[in-house]
Parts: sequence; structure tokens; C-alpha cells
Amino acid sequence: MSTLAIPILMYHSLDDSGSVVSVTPDVFAGQMQRLAERGWRGITLKEAGEFHEAQGQWPKKSVVITFDDGFANVYSQGLPVLKPLGFSATVFLVTDHIDGCNDWAPPPPPLGHLPMLSWSQIDQLHEMGHELAPHTVTHPNLLTLSIDEVSRELQMSSDALTQRFGRTPKSFAYPFGHYDQVIEQATKKLFPYVCTTILRRAQHEALYALPRVDMFYIRTLRMFDKLIDGSLDRYLSMRRWARGLRSSLTSSC
Ligand SMILES: [Zn+2]
Repeated sequence: MSTLAIPILMYHSLDDSGSVVSVTPDVFAGQMQRLAERGWRGITLKEAGEFHEAQGQWPKKSVVITFDDGFANVYSQGLPVLKPLGFSATVFLVTDHIDGCNDWAPPPPPLGHLPMLSWSQIDQLHEMGHELAPHTVTHPNLLTLSIDEVSRELQMSSDALTQRFGRTPKSFAYPFGHYDQVIEQATKKLFPYVCTTILRRAQHEALYALPRVDMFYIRTLRMFDKLIDGSLDRYLSMRRWARGLRSSLTSSC
């Protein structure tokens, strides 16, 4: 088995709405059970990053589990699955929306407005060994901000978690996956482990530019098995190509 690559799974909301940011709780539970049955484990981005820095390779039979945005259903639907399996996950929080809802932009239909994690739930996740990391203060498209505004979003979201937990967060994820080289420079000064939304398993990328697999695309256990054993890489590269083509067509309009 190759330890050259590690899947970093990107989930958002665990709900039955069918939106582009939703995975059903049943599908999520099935995927986590499958990992456990095969002797794999779910770990945080920080664990994977620290292992990679120390050993020069990714940990064996491990998958990084990440949740973007900090929906309350990570606690209500995700935790009861993760806890008995002994898996841990990284949750990227929009710090101004903790105890609030996903109203930073119109939610993708038919998701609607959903509650985000409360500080009390976040404290419990932290105590159980999950990683809480920033996903900016207000979830903006960073490409639309001045670099000073970008720096404030990065620093203030990091500060909010540092004040809560007494430790500086090491991981970060870009809202909407949007960034450029200037934003990347500012981000890597604060966070050693940074997630993008580039669709592939992580291999030799810099730890400040890690690709992830959007779990919206992985709907069957057969696909999930292939993702884990690496045989889905070709499909992911076709998806990546199609997605890039679609965005280049849109941006040229
Ligand atoms: Zn997000």
C-alpha cells in the first residue's frame, strides 16, 4: 500500500436536503463504518500535518476528515458516528457565525438557513480531541477583498480560537476555495496546514496548499472504496478538468 497519498475528505453539512454542500447522515455513517471495517482511521488535518512534518510522509491507513463552515449538524449527526469509532475530525469555523446561522450569503437551494455550532458544542468537540480551526470571520470571497481586509479575516478568526482554547490554530480552509498567490502568502504566514478545494488526494503538495475531495461527488460506497484505495484518481482528474472548464467558461462571460 502506498503512503504517498492521503484522502482529505471535505464535508460541509450533514442533512437530507440534497444541496451541493450536503451529504446525508446515512451516507456519512456508511462511509465512516466502511473505513473502520477496513482498518482505516479518521484523523484531523493537524495530526496528519504534524506526522508529515516529522516523518516526511503521510500516515498509513488514515483519512483526514474535514467539515467546512461549522454546521450544528456536525455535532448532532456527525459526532454520534465518529465517537464510537474513535475517529477525530477538523471543523473549520466561520467565527462571527458561531451560535448563529449560515446567513453570510444566500444558502445554496434547497439547503435554507441552518444553525451553526454553538460555543458550548465547540468546547465539547475540542475536549474530545477534534480540531477546531478558522474558516475566516465572515466567510467572504477573499479574492474580492484588499490584502489588508484579507489579513484581518485571517488574523481575527485565528485570534477568536486562540482566546478560547489558549493555543494558536494551525489549520485553515479558504471560503469557496478562492485564493491567489498574494492571499496564499498571507495565509501561510499564519497557518502551516491550509486546505484548498482542488479535487484530488494529497500527495506531494506543500502543506499550505493541500487538495481535498469534495464528498458531494462520492455518493456510493463503491466510489468511496475506490477513493480510499486510489483507483478513483483518474475519475477525480476528469472531474477536476470538467470543473475547471466550467469555471473558465463562466468567468469569460
Ligand atoms: Zn465555507
